[in-house]
Amino acid sequence: MKSNTLAALAVVSTPQQVHYNTEAIQAMDTAHYLHPFTNFKALANRGAQVIVEAQDIYLWDSQGKRILDGMAGLWCVNVGYGRKSISDAVYTQMQQLPFYNSFFNTTNIPAVELAKALVEISPPQFKHVFFTGSGSEANDTNLRMVRRYWDLLGYSERHVIISRHNAYHGSTVAGASLGGMSAMHAQGSLPIPGIVHIGQPYYLEGGKGLTQDEFGLKAASWLEDKILEVGADQVAAFIAEPLQGAGGVIIPPATYWPEIQRICSKYDILLIVDEVICGFGRVGCWFGSEHFEIKADLMTFAKGVTSGYLPLGGVMVGDKVAQVLIEKGGDFNHGFTYSGHPVACAAALENIRILREEKIIEQVRDETGPYLKQGFDSLLDHPLVGMVDTCGFLAALVLVKEKAENIFDMQMFPKDLGVGQICRDHMFKHGMIMRAVGNRMIVSPPLTMTIAQIDEMIALIRFCLDETLADLQQRNYL
Ligand SMILES: *Cc1c(COP(=O)(O)O)cnc(C)c1O
Repeated sequence: MKSNTLAALAVVSTPQQVHYNTEAIQAMDTAHYLHPFTNFKALANRGAQVIVEAQDIYLWDSQGKRILDGMAGLWCVNVGYGRKSISDAVYTQMQQLPFYNSFFNTTNIPAVELAKALVEISPPQFKHVFFTGSGSEANDTNLRMVRRYWDLLGYSERHVIISRHNAYHGSTVAGASLGGMSAMHAQGSLPIPGIVHIGQPYYLEGGKGLTQDEFGLKAASWLEDKILEVGADQVAAFIAEPLQGAGGVIIPPATYWPEIQRICSKYDILLIVDEVICGFGRVGCWFGSEHFEIKADLMTFAKGVTSGYLPLGGVMVGDKVAQVLIEKGGDFNHGFTYSGHPVACAAALENIRILREEKIIEQVRDETGPYLKQGFDSLLDHPLVGMVDTCGFLAALVLVKEKAENIFDMQMFPKDLGVGQICRDHMFKHGMIMRAVGNRMIVSPPLTMTIAQIDEMIALIRFCLDETLADLQQRNYL
């Protein structure tokens, strides 16, 4: 039995049998660590849950409690936790070459090999990659790259990028501006100039009186409206996630993407697809572009590329843009210290090898993805669940106050009651990580989750929904 420097207060049991002094860790955390997307004061009052170990689809906290990680870390641990072959690859690479930059006519072998592997698994128009350290940096790169592209072609007035409300494209200044999160825009004078937004293709929000297909066309037409409003000769690109992840797993109607594609072609506007969540098997194929049949000019990736084991992101650059940058470009004055970091690339290479050799993506597509859908569909008999949406290994359920035959007649909880948060707290309390986005409860589990583990997760979710129901009744919210 190992002992931790912060000596144990109580006997606990994590797989490695280490004992932790949770209160001391929490006190230190509060004293010094400002967490991302966090109300610092509220966290200080409750104390952070200290995650200490992970295996497969499970986490353990410092009290020895086992937690089923329905969010795969943060939409990223696609191959599950505890992959020794990834840590071995990282260790070996660290000893051989822990770092070197690619700025000054130098390169490194893992970066070259990863570039080749990414081209192999990406749609055929992508033969080049630009590496970054994260998804946000990759979207910053997109912004600079599309503007550079139009400059080089002699159309520098084409600088406006169109995005969507409730999109998530990261948290740097460009990432948050490209994103459509109102709470982020409210802080720090965002979006920056030259970025405009259109409505999201969320049927439940905007589709009343229309079929799904009609609404898909309508939501796509907002892009054309915006292009005409801005002036087609001013627009550089449109950016979108294949389906919105952080926005609440919002899956567009089938008619949406073909129409978006048509509009982008009509006005010769570059299409950037942000695959940070959908990529690397999340929706049952390598990229969401395959599922929705999107032919993009640029493709953002991060998260699943290393299954989160190390930070890495990048942009797949399609032939149309790459040719101009290469042939006419001269220096592209952009890059990051950690672009093509050899150790992160080594982790990605091993992660891709695992996804391929274990046929994890095929398994999600043919077996576990459909089974997850069945599981979520089975929750529709619960009094709180008005609707479910699934795509591959992404799933969402909508909490409603009162159900109805027609989804537009359902009664929703008022936003300020925070019913999603209440439900999430019950999930956490019972060792289930599920995320709340407004009234949508979502999961994005490790892609290795088995049939038996899906059963376990659905049972746990159902139990916690019951607890939530009882709680809401007690609060007179129903
Ligand atoms: C997470 C995410 C990003 C940002 O990635 P970071 O690595 O956090 O910078 C960008 N786009 C999408 C769709 C994401 O989900």
